[in-house]
Amino acid sequence: MPIQLTTPHLTIHESQLFRTTSTIIHTDDYVLIVDPNWLPAEVDHLAELTAELGAGKEKYLLFTHSDYDHIIGYGKFPGFTTIASKAFVDNPQQADQLAQTIAWDDEYYIKRDYELTYPVIDLAKAKDGEKTMIGEDQYHFYQAPGHNYDGLVTFNKSRGILIVGDYLSNVEFPYVYHSFAEYRDTLISLRAIIYTGLVKVLITGHGDHTTDYNEMERRLEDSFAYLEELTLSVQNDTAFDLEKWLSRYDFPIIMRKFHDKNVALLRAEGLLGAGAGAK
Ligand SMILES: [Zn+2]
Repeated sequence: MPIQLTTPHLTIHESQLFRTTSTIIHTDDYVLIVDPNWLPAEVDHLAELTAELGAGKEKYLLFTHSDYDHIIGYGKFPGFTTIASKAFVDNPQQADQLAQTIAWDDEYYIKRDYELTYPVIDLAKAKDGEKTMIGEDQYHFYQAPGHNYDGLVTFNKSRGILIVGDYLSNVEFPYVYHSFAEYRDTLISLRAIIYTGLVKVLITGHGDHTTDYNEMERRLEDSFAYLEELTLSVQNDTAFDLEKWLSRYDFPIIMRKFHDKNVALLRAEGLLGAGAGAK
């Protein structure tokens, strides 16, 4: 399993599928793993590593959101204290997400030595900017709907680690499954966090992390620009320069499909009025 980054307290692993990241933070007091994912051998490896790094410590398992690729490893980490947003717990689509994990394993003839279930959450974060101490580290949690219904942005302020889930990727333009209006609001809160200058590393759900402030800004501006250009083109019924956007990314064929879904959702939101779009 490729490792993007190793420091004394942080490792970022990358699945061979969809460049999906699994992040581990470990200190003298605790180990925390984020979105352990995809193939059984990858999840096994992450479980072993976490057991090793977390021996005799508090163990936490955090979900950035409930999209099935991010919850598929849950069953391999029994006994961990789980963290996600309150919306993750209340998500009316949780049965769908679980069904997708099961269907995915079925489609690819994959067997696991644990059961696929929807994660039960011990610490459900309902507020925006909620502060929590984990071990000696101060964490701030922010609600992050838009990409899906129940995103949670996690900022380890003590170490400058910002974990954003499926936002600010360098391999995908915004994929909006839930709400354009809320996606934009989440970008605004991410911008506020990044502009503090306290973020040392930004970790996205798919693609490369970055430690470069200019790159963080560039990803923010790109995301805002994609939403803006698409909104104008749908509102005014004018052409959208999709080829320009696709040329910047490594996997343009699949992205075209996600773009078409973005357009369909944006049209539906437009019909419902600004700020709507919740399914
Ligand atoms: Zn994802």
